[in-house]
Amino acid sequence: MTKQVIHNLGYPRVGPQRELKTALEQFWRGDSDAQSLRQTADTIRAARWQDQADAGVDLIPVNEFSLYDHMLDMSLLLGVVSPRFGDSASQDELTLFFRMARGDTDQPACEMTKWFDTNYHYLVPEFEPQQNFRIFSQKLFDEVKAAQAAGHSPKPVLVGPVSYLYLGKLRGEGDKLQLLEKLLPIYNDILDKLAGLGVDWVQLDEPCLGLDLDRNWQQAYDKAYNMLADCRVKILLANYFAGYGDNLELVKQLPVSGVHADAVRSHDEALQLAENWPEDKVLSLGVIDGRNIWRANLGQWLDELKPLKQEIDQQLWLAPSCSLLHTPIDLDNETSLDDELRSWLAFAKQKLNELGVLKQALSEGRRSVSFSLRDNMQAHAAREASERVHRADVIQRLQAITNKMTQRQNAFSKRSLAQVKALGLPLLPTTTIGSFPQTSAIRKARADFKHARSNETTYREAMQAEIKNVIERQDALSLDVLVHGEPERNDMVEYFGELLEGMITTQNGWVQSYGSRCVKPPIIFGDVHRPQAMTTNWINYAQSLTQRPVKGMLTGPVTILQWSFVRDDQPRSETCKQIALAIRDEVNDLESNGIKVIQVDEPALREGLPLKQAEQGAYLDWAVQSFKLATAGVEDSTQIHTHMCYAEFEDILEAITDMDADVITLENARSDSELLQSFEDFSYPNAIGPGVWDIHSPRTVPLIEMTDLLEQALKVVPAERLWVNPDCGLKTRGWDEIETNLENLVAAAKQLRELLMTDNSKTGTQATQVDKQAVTIRIHK
Ligand code: GLN
Ligand code: ZN
Repeated sequence: MTKQVIHNLGYPRVGPQRELKTALEQFWRGDSDAQSLRQTADTIRAARWQDQADAGVDLIPVNEFSLYDHMLDMSLLLGVVSPRFGDSASQDELTLFFRMARGDTDQPACEMTKWFDTNYHYLVPEFEPQQNFRIFSQKLFDEVKAAQAAGHSPKPVLVGPVSYLYLGKLRGEGDKLQLLEKLLPIYNDILDKLAGLGVDWVQLDEPCLGLDLDRNWQQAYDKAYNMLADCRVKILLANYFAGYGDNLELVKQLPVSGVHADAVRSHDEALQLAENWPEDKVLSLGVIDGRNIWRANLGQWLDELKPLKQEIDQQLWLAPSCSLLHTPIDLDNETSLDDELRSWLAFAKQKLNELGVLKQALSEGRRSVSFSLRDNMQAHAAREASERVHRADVIQRLQAITNKMTQRQNAFSKRSLAQVKALGLPLLPTTTIGSFPQTSAIRKARADFKHARSNETTYREAMQAEIKNVIERQDALSLDVLVHGEPERNDMVEYFGELLEGMITTQNGWVQSYGSRCVKPPIIFGDVHRPQAMTTNWINYAQSLTQRPVKGMLTGPVTILQWSFVRDDQPRSETCKQIALAIRDEVNDLESNGIKVIQVDEPALREGLPLKQAEQGAYLDWAVQSFKLATAGVEDSTQIHTHMCYAEFEDILEAITDMDADVITLENARSDSELLQSFEDFSYPNAIGPGVWDIHSPRTVPLIEMTDLLEQALKVVPAERLWVNPDCGLKTRGWDEIETNLENLVAAAKQLRELLMTDNSKTGTQATQVDKQAVTIRIHK
């Protein structure tokens, strides 16, 4: 047998200590120049390549590194720059790149949305109906040359033409598939240019092949890859996060040199591919889980892979299931993990080592890695038997869940009357989503306490001072429902991960969420249990400072699950219900402390939706049940809010309705009110706050833009069920922008409120440019 080939699909970008984040934010603040940013990026890139080479990776992915996002890189490579950003040729590329990513004073950023079922966000390509393509950015070619110069054998990674089109949006009328014709020749040119650089293999990522595709899109694949068949490089077609499903037959026929299949998410399909595999193609099996942090079961894999290797020999390649972008970089960076837990885990670097062990075993025989295999086997056995994993009381509580526990006492129509009485809010109430700026002083106070450099009293006083600050500011702004600002939370999931048992958090387990933003997903290793109340002290304090209602602020069970690394020894639905019970206790505690409004955030609900339609119903069932289990234990008069953002919610509106929250606040401003459009066909029965301020952009939103958005909202939501709020939390914004934008937000609500309350004739004429006619007609309807 020949030597086993291993390759990698992508590697974490931010660097072991988030060096890229630091460099980017310095650059954006104006504290460093483009050259020093590029230098940091080069250093990180070189280290990543070296990590992979050291692990024995034969083909090293190149160009999956990005200063912000690889889809945005693709747009610049292909010259897809919306005319709203001005003439691309006359601008500095880096400046243009960041303008598209982050927006500036005259243009909002490109839309951002979640990358399949991950918490990674990509920037949505914006196509014009007459879109032309051309090779614009040289980044890809520069990186290939740099990798070659460093002595590596690079395998450039590009998003394939069909997925690129599929994931973009056409501005205006037309069918974006029509653009394929013009796009393919550019891909051809790119591949040709890569061949000219001596590149042998190119990985074209086509993760849309994991979705249910209609005939037109299937045909697009056929057309695209037939058109690219004569190019001078070998194409490895890569799909991940799900099996090929109904696209399998199509894929088998495509004239590509290799196909990658995710053997973790779709084990059986991937392994069956190897039977009758054609002699002229490579089959890359993704055997190491790129979406989780548990050690692979190497012995088991070897049992399965050995016969395949005998069968197709050098045509078999091994890889992680998907890019390792979605895992933290290095377990060795963890200093305070106990040895037992550590022995169960593998981060990106360790995953490549696992791949290296498989490579050696298949090339030289198992005996050459017997020590590693034994160690691996023992770790698995120890995890299975560990007493830290199971708790009898949690299992009992789970079995005792009844239907009644997941239903509010009365329907929204009745509850809302009780809430009006309890809260006395005006029409179009204003609120924010929860967080306020996480200043460096706040972060320092938290870090000092965490590392025992300050005592509890000092810490509590610092947090309370901050809570007081945000309450006073909100009171001064005349917001209607206040928040405590979440200063005590490093992250909305990690915070609860620290307080719940059965979960642990890491020191450096960073995973990129978008741009320079990273999160440290907690690890759920055992049954989840709430040892004591987690938020009541902070919320009680905030409420003691004001007459206005303060929202209790919690993260929902589905989001805690989704944004953690979840144990793989029981169904996710079980783990989710355990978390739901813990949150339910917290909701009930807040209520009994006199908190009248409680927000349970579920921004990750949509993200957990399985990619294949056939599996979606079951997921939505248990996800909605979990939310209800967490929130339905309160009285009618207690108002339950939920919040969601940065995903396409249009296709799960029914499930969102079933959650039966009294109020839902949603991201809307950033995605051009697309959400509102879907409410034209679907009438949401409870109250809703479509965001009027895109908080990802540093710009000041003019009042008129906010009134416009509200005006649009009033067309589909009756005034008595409409709330006014930003798209999302404000932790990444500065106070100056917040004050101006919230002033505008409150003013916008007031203007419309007056319009709705007063007779048209009595309203001042130049007070607003809102279409008063339309508003009055609706109120009288
Ligand atoms: N309450 C959270 C905040 O304001 C919600 C964040 C989110 O939706 N991602 O920060
Ligand atoms: Zn949000």
